[in-house]
Amino acid sequence: MATAAASYQMTIDGKGVSTPAHIDVRNPATGEVFAQAPAATAKDLDHAVAAAKRAFESWKLTSIAERKAALNKAAAILKAHADELASLFVAEQGRPLAGAKAEILGASMWMQATTLLDIPVEVTEDSDTRRVEVHHVPLGVVCGIVPWNFPVLLAVWKIGPALLAGNTLVLKPSPFTPLTTLRIGELFRDCFPAGVFNVISGGDDLGPRMTAHKGFAKISFTGSTATGRRVMESAAKDLKRITLELGGNDAAIILPDVDVDAVAAQLFEGAFHNTAQVCVATKRMYIHADIYDRLRDRLHELAKATPVGDGAQQGNRYGPVQNEPQYRRVLNLLEDARATGLTLLEGSAVPEAGYFVPLTLVDNPPEASRVVQEEAFGPVLPLLKWNDLDDVIARANDSDYGLAGAVWSADVAKATEIAHRLDTGTVWINQNLQSTPFTPLAGAKQSGFGQENGLAGLLEFTRPKSIFIPKVNAA
Ligand code: NAD
Repeated sequence: MATAAASYQMTIDGKGVSTPAHIDVRNPATGEVFAQAPAATAKDLDHAVAAAKRAFESWKLTSIAERKAALNKAAAILKAHADELASLFVAEQGRPLAGAKAEILGASMWMQATTLLDIPVEVTEDSDTRRVEVHHVPLGVVCGIVPWNFPVLLAVWKIGPALLAGNTLVLKPSPFTPLTTLRIGELFRDCFPAGVFNVISGGDDLGPRMTAHKGFAKISFTGSTATGRRVMESAAKDLKRITLELGGNDAAIILPDVDVDAVAAQLFEGAFHNTAQVCVATKRMYIHADIYDRLRDRLHELAKATPVGDGAQQGNRYGPVQNEPQYRRVLNLLEDARATGLTLLEGSAVPEAGYFVPLTLVDNPPEASRVVQEEAFGPVLPLLKWNDLDDVIARANDSDYGLAGAVWSADVAKATEIAHRLDTGTVWINQNLQSTPFTPLAGAKQSGFGQENGLAGLLEFTRPKSIFIPKVNAA
């Protein structure tokens, strides 16, 4: 059912703003347009930046306690509207309802947890003659750009720390999933003074216009590595500060001592959660030769038994690929795998309409094949056999990416040694997909630049300011 375009507005300077033009929003389970979102004009962007700039002058002077209270109010609103937001989320993002609601509630929890952080003042000298203090002060107006795979949680990873640190924010959701974020903008209008939190939406041209806008002091970007490079280039023109959370091609190394039956379901979820559209999903699974066949067969059984379909229908565990270009990319990768003679092990049947791809395992493809080297960001998982530990660590590390990785073994000490040898920002031992509001997520190599979450992530929304205070006044 089409929703009236007017029902979704941007939030600028605390008010709802409509636009003459719109972008279509499709339900990925059907491929049909079901709503429209505003397409911000150049004037709208200027308006949002100017409002955020004005608001910054007073927001930066508020106490951190005041800012925490505002964020806690926003967190409570997210929680109170979880059901409404989750239904909208399913329609635009495709994920089954339970997972959609989990993201909204998780985002609420995350925002609240962020308010437990404080911004330290470091004292680097406190002598008879002087005291030297390093403060961390806000930057100004922050531009937040978010992808479609976790549209709400990844927005909150920016909203919480950016505002807590005393900045103001103009946030842009992905053109594929703008609606839940626009609705959140509306719900938050009473939480913050006008102009502190703005949400604008638009098509492919809006992101580059934002990164080029002179009014932003910082860009906090989550998305693909290819786009991250463009963001960095654009930011270089006026040396805007940047944080880039980018793509990954995460390896999991499975040692021969694991209990295959006990770990198979966890390994499966670590690869296919959210239809494998997770930056830190397992995207290359290196299984020791001694257990390869058994684990491969268990994973294949799980794929065949897992229902994939419309997220709005009960019983489906995973939904469609989120959008058409991504769907085409995944199909292209599968075509290449077939054309090069690789063995594909398919899971349960998927609906004809919409952007559905069966959960697919690729049986021990060559290391150089595209399906191993590229980030699929869809339900295609290469399983790779290994014998020699040094060799498999080298294979895992032989990537331009370095987001996360996992090691699975009955011997935690041995797994920990292997974890130290992986060139990634995060490593999990006998677990996966874990992150906390107090732990930085920082991609190594081309998976990122800077970090989000934890105190280190919060401080990325500040700059150090050192003040030398004399004890004996020489003036
Ligand atoms: P994308 O790079 O295509 O788009 C991300 C966002 O950037 C969208 O809002 C888009 O509109 C905007 N954008 C597009 N071109 C732009 C430009 N030239 N300048 C500024 N903004 C621009 O990524 P996607 O397809 O939406 O998301 C999937 C990718 O995101 C995957 O590679 C995934 O691994 C990565 N990701 C990383 C993390 C992380 O924390 N490291 C988290 C989630 C997703």
